[in-house]
Amino acid sequence: MKQQAPPVPLSGPYLDEREEELVLEVLRSGRLSLGPMVDRFEEAFAAYLGVPYAAAVSSGTAGLHLLCISAGIGPGDEVITSPYSFAASANCFIYEGGVPVFADIDPRTLNLDPEAVRAAVTPRTKAIVAVDIYGYPCELDALRAIADEHGLALIEDACEALGALYKGEPLGVHGPPAVFAFYPNKQMTTGEGGIVTTHSEDEWRRHRSLRNQGRGDAGGWLEHVRLGFNYRLSDVASALGLGQVEKLGEILPLRAEVARRYDELLAGIDGVELPLADDADHIRSWFVYVVALPDNATRERVIATFEREGIGFNRYLPSIHLQPYMRERYGFREGMCPVSEDLSSRTLALPFFTGLERDAQERVAEVLATAL
Ligand SMILES: *Cc1c(COP(=O)(O)O)cnc(C)c1O
Repeated sequence: MKQQAPPVPLSGPYLDEREEELVLEVLRSGRLSLGPMVDRFEEAFAAYLGVPYAAAVSSGTAGLHLLCISAGIGPGDEVITSPYSFAASANCFIYEGGVPVFADIDPRTLNLDPEAVRAAVTPRTKAIVAVDIYGYPCELDALRAIADEHGLALIEDACEALGALYKGEPLGVHGPPAVFAFYPNKQMTTGEGGIVTTHSEDEWRRHRSLRNQGRGDAGGWLEHVRLGFNYRLSDVASALGLGQVEKLGEILPLRAEVARRYDELLAGIDGVELPLADDADHIRSWFVYVVALPDNATRERVIATFEREGIGFNRYLPSIHLQPYMRERYGFREGMCPVSEDLSSRTLALPFFTGLERDAQERVAEVLATAL
């Protein structure tokens, strides 16, 4: 019998004894929620990025929801966002009654095309939710100019882009409030979790209140000054987060190295379009490694081979406006965002994580070449 090579998973966290030690410290302290580890995590995270304020929350989606509340998005307000993203970047304002308006993307960067955003502005537009997809910084300055011109809020979904640089500075420090996420496939993980960064102390205090059932800063445990949520991050999860922040200086370069090896291994394969390279204004933080294939039929052929060979993959990313609930609720159809729809039909995520070894990558490249 032919010996089957070991499977290559799509993703996996990068943890060691340091996270175990910090989690154990929390367990032994008896303070499992609203304890000091949350503050330690937030302070370390804010210091790493160089942002003044960060509020940890239970997920990236929760963080985005809080920013939509802060922006005052309410029933009937239109919010312009990217169709080529994870559903959370549109769901976050629908929770508040906001209406999604999808602007098409730039086929190079896969991020919102500022001209498409400008064309989508109406008197009912309230905000823009920009996404740094696959860790590649969006066109922040152009989007900010549009937002300023029309008096719109700009919210940055940087959930995939921790450590990415725009014009030489990390995402999060540029001004617009941003959200980072810590699901296990992200650059760093807390199991589940997210964090909201802001430059405004008032906004930060409001986020801390909103995540904690609307409790006030003073007042008692049973005084609620606003409609809030339970979006708290536990101290156990925060301990994981602290351990991860401490090793971001190791994690991010390792991920860049994994990506560089793929670039090299895949460069000679006909029909594989590699992720966009960095330029002076955009330095990607590697979240996933997504290639574009010539068409959907080719992608399905590659996927069938990957399945047979035990190689992880995902069809990153379907266009949000064509998801069943979006079609049903808003009547969205094919043809609304042709660039996004085309890329959705033929982009594919390859196995990618911090500890991915060269041998496994060689195997992925080999199988991909064979399938093509
Ligand atoms: C991961 C992610 C989120 C947040 O996801 P959660 O699972 O809620 O933490 C939001 N937007 C994008 C683009 C993401 O990739």
